[in-house]
Amino acid sequence: MTKKKKIALVGNPNSGKTSLFNLLTGLNQKVGNYPGVTVDKRSGTLKLENGEACELIDLPGTYSLSSKNDDEKVVQNILLNPQSNSFPDLIIVVIDGTNLARNLFLASQVIELGIPSILAINMADIVEKSGDQIKINEISRFFDVPVTTISARKNKGIKTLLSLAETDISPSNKTLFKREKYNSVLNDSAHFFEASTPYMLFKQINNAADLLPASDFDLLNSQFEANNFEPLKEEILEISDRVAQINAASENFYIRQTKVNHKTITDKIDRYVTHPIWGLFIFLGVFFLLFQAIFTFAEYPMNFINDGIVDLGVWVGNLLPDSWFADFITDGIFAGLAGVLVFVPQIMILFALIAILEDTGYLSRVSFMTDGLLKRFGMNGKSVIPLVGGFACAIPAIMAARSIENKRERFITIFITPLMACSARLPVYVFLVSFIAPNEFIWGVISVQGLYMLGLYLLGFVVALLIAMIINLFRKKGGHSSFILELPNYKLPSLRNALNAAINKGKIFVVQAGKVILIASIILWVLSYFGPGDRFEQIDKKYTALIAENEIHADSLYTKMSSEKLENSYLGIMGKTIEPVIQPLGFDWKIGIAIVASFAAREVFVGTMSTIYSVEGGEENEKGLKAIQFSYATAFSLLIFYVFALQCMSTIAIVRQETGSWTIAGIQFIVFTGIAYLASWITYSWLAG
Ligand code: GDP
Ligand code: MG
Repeated sequence: MTKKKKIALVGNPNSGKTSLFNLLTGLNQKVGNYPGVTVDKRSGTLKLENGEACELIDLPGTYSLSSKNDDEKVVQNILLNPQSNSFPDLIIVVIDGTNLARNLFLASQVIELGIPSILAINMADIVEKSGDQIKINEISRFFDVPVTTISARKNKGIKTLLSLAETDISPSNKTLFKREKYNSVLNDSAHFFEASTPYMLFKQINNAADLLPASDFDLLNSQFEANNFEPLKEEILEISDRVAQINAASENFYIRQTKVNHKTITDKIDRYVTHPIWGLFIFLGVFFLLFQAIFTFAEYPMNFINDGIVDLGVWVGNLLPDSWFADFITDGIFAGLAGVLVFVPQIMILFALIAILEDTGYLSRVSFMTDGLLKRFGMNGKSVIPLVGGFACAIPAIMAARSIENKRERFITIFITPLMACSARLPVYVFLVSFIAPNEFIWGVISVQGLYMLGLYLLGFVVALLIAMIINLFRKKGGHSSFILELPNYKLPSLRNALNAAINKGKIFVVQAGKVILIASIILWVLSYFGPGDRFEQIDKKYTALIAENEIHADSLYTKMSSEKLENSYLGIMGKTIEPVIQPLGFDWKIGIAIVASFAAREVFVGTMSTIYSVEGGEENEKGLKAIQFSYATAFSLLIFYVFALQCMSTIAIVRQETGSWTIAGIQFIVFTGIAYLASWITYSWLAG
């Protein structure tokens, strides 16, 4: 069996790689992660006309092969390492035809590595509209590679591109690299690497730290000293020489016709979008919509999925003989599955919207505008989406932090996002605020309870920023990610990209975080369903007898039975065990049980409270809530606890997935629980004392 030919798409960010990738692979694609970094690795199968199946890899966007940032180095580490799993047999360099010179710089670097390459000049539709003409023969002659124009958006020129990919392409012979200067270093270093061109070797030397084992790297370094060679300095000189050559050559690659081009449309739009006042309104409008979409619109599919799976679970459970196993299927497995899948609509909607915002070019503007402000908190402009999204749900929001290239900024963003008051906190807040604030209105319009709610939202937000500032104090110098050098032109978004993003992120979530959430919820179920010794049997016996005597009160007896079981379950015992710990916060064991149980999902809190309290509360009324009596201090303390505590196992699972580290997830849990404990303790001592 011959190995599948590997074809890689390389190009600047926004040059249209992903559009082309989606076009060529359809849904035949899978998303993974590059080892050690957080960049998505997308690959898929491409069938050529002659029937040959190739592996197509959509490499991350990059402006050059000279990046020093870990996440941005992915592309160069693959292309400079013939041993890499992803090392391509053929490269398609995707070039934004509206920005030729800048894109050709990267192309010139790639071509000179000695890997067979094709230049695909994309955005042909826009170029054509502007009246400009690109002289592809001229470019082809200059670089000594096949060149063709395409429009990934309009699906044009793809056939020609594919038939080029079928042919046997030999590596380019073009050299912009001036090797004479480096003869001795190159000769002395050649045996460390596998290079087919001098430029490849030069780049490998410059990235030796990533490519060589430490011992070889030291040897190489001593050679540099002997040869009086400073890699970084030489690389910079080489780049500026290359830029100059490309810029000069690019003058001959165009026939410019008109003065009106797409740039002016972009400029016109930007006059409003980046305007200090209109820009702010547009920003608020867009983010209000985004927020609405995950907060409100997602609710319908979420309810549908949740109810559907729960009903299905009940149905399946009823088919089975009445036993713990039937309950396990219904309340353990199916309820757990519902707990995973219920997040999928939010994730898909958010990522489709992000893809649209990104495609249009608006997201770059938002990042650009907010970057200065967020920088002070150790984040960057791309943190806006996770932070706003966090008010709906931390799960999709934390996934959205993927687009932040800088590790530290991404870490800070992920770390504080769970402090944004998510929608699952809302029912808890509403429930508890009713104990501490009167249902009254100031001047007949402003709800007092509403003000309390607002205060809780602000509290989480402000503390989040404080934590970010504190983490940021420990920042090493020069940690801020270099920012976008130019804003992309406005474009119409592509539905295909949006759909792809939605499906991919949904899949990643279900497959990766889903497992952890499912297992954790099954464990919680087991803890609440079983108790030590024969306590459960005793309860069963007692209530069977009672119900037999008192058929009319069967319903309320059942409720009492479940609360008594909950109290005697392992979960209940855990709640009681932690009572001494939570007593200083004004919580008793019942609240303890509700806190432990609500770890599955915060909104479970209210339900658990009413179950557990029905034990003593006598008559049930108004959803059984009246039976619960909190003191003002306890209710307030509990509210503060829920503002800070990381009471959500799904968040822990997603943080682990996105950071690849249980340690970070654990630290986050401990820090937030610590803050929650401290804040509640202060609140309670102050109010009760
Ligand atoms: P990537 O960053 O290189 O993966 O680029 P994308 O594929 O995400 O494309 C960036 C933007 O350019 C998206 O809005 C695409 O819809 C748009 N785009 C891609 N190819 C073309 C094209 O040929 N013509 C036009 N008009 N837009 C395109
Ligand atoms: Mg892309």
